[in-house]
Amino acid sequence: MRKITKEIAVRNLKIGAQNPIAIQSMTNIAVTDVEATLAQITLCGEAGCDIMRIAVPNIAAARAFKQVRAQTDMPLVADIHFDYRLAIAATENGADKIRVNPGNMSLSQLDSVIDCAKMHRIPIRIGVNGGSINKDVLARTGSRAQAMYESLTEYVRYFESRNFDDIVLSVKSTDVTETVRTNRLVAQLGYPVHLGVTEAGLVKQGIVKNSIGIGALLLDGIGDTVRVSLTADPVEEVIAAKDILVSLGLKDGVTFVSCPKCGRCSIDLENVAKEIYDYVKNLDKNVKIAVMGCEVNGPGECADADLGLAGANGKFVFFKRGKRYRTVNADEAIEQFKKEIDALTNDN
Ligand code: SF4
Repeated sequence: MRKITKEIAVRNLKIGAQNPIAIQSMTNIAVTDVEATLAQITLCGEAGCDIMRIAVPNIAAARAFKQVRAQTDMPLVADIHFDYRLAIAATENGADKIRVNPGNMSLSQLDSVIDCAKMHRIPIRIGVNGGSINKDVLARTGSRAQAMYESLTEYVRYFESRNFDDIVLSVKSTDVTETVRTNRLVAQLGYPVHLGVTEAGLVKQGIVKNSIGIGALLLDGIGDTVRVSLTADPVEEVIAAKDILVSLGLKDGVTFVSCPKCGRCSIDLENVAKEIYDYVKNLDKNVKIAVMGCEVNGPGECADADLGLAGANGKFVFFKRGKRYRTVNADEAIEQFKKEIDALTNDN
């Protein structure tokens, strides 16, 4: 059962409470290249991204942020590392949310950031990471997860004492177990939680780490926004996040299955599967599509697929919910199967 958190608005997107879990990614180029940044935001949006984060490391970036803001409807979060003045500049330049680590600012600087966000009615994401844990807290608790949670709790109480509760919480760790342990504690605070295993690596390794970390927490009902952090094109992050949510039944989308292939397979299964997957990966329909290596076991192994195809010695068998209904020559099978997918998803 999902843990219900406070509802927060990021531009026109509501997160927390019962709202759908939002997918987040981050541009990986300098925002001063406004056109390229907009192009990346558009591609991520087309892939299913709900919120984009943009690094604002200097005043030129804060100015460019304003130009980007003016040219897209995507909710945009300004990511600030140290300089509170950039948080204020980004807020004044139209950020829909800012992300700060309060541990990098003095209290008076943090007060200025909070006052500015309050005036512009935008939320703040409070981010705490393993690298900035208070050493005394760590020594006392002996646990990095507990230390990060206590640091974050202290910041939350500070924000509340300033009458500001328009907040989203995140704890960053590169360690999967630590991410899960800490977020289980953070979820008790009642504010929306942003999930992700940070600096998770290249695509394969990063998806594994994030799927375990984010997946375990989502299964506990924890998490209101997710980012699969990868050393890759941000579109890959969005696709991976969407796959996690669809796999757990938390988002509409295509469940794609393909068999591992064995000695019974007589087709180029990998390429057929890739082509069909590329065709369906951006559909937001709740359907299950199967690509199987042989007609002997394929339909039976995938009896709950809405639509499937299986290799059959120079031909392909199409099946619906485990029942064969068409046999098509190999040279036209993929095109015909795409038409069947169109027919299924258009009536769905
Ligand atoms: S569907 Fe056929 S080819 Fe694929 S793993 Fe099963 S038996 Fe092997």
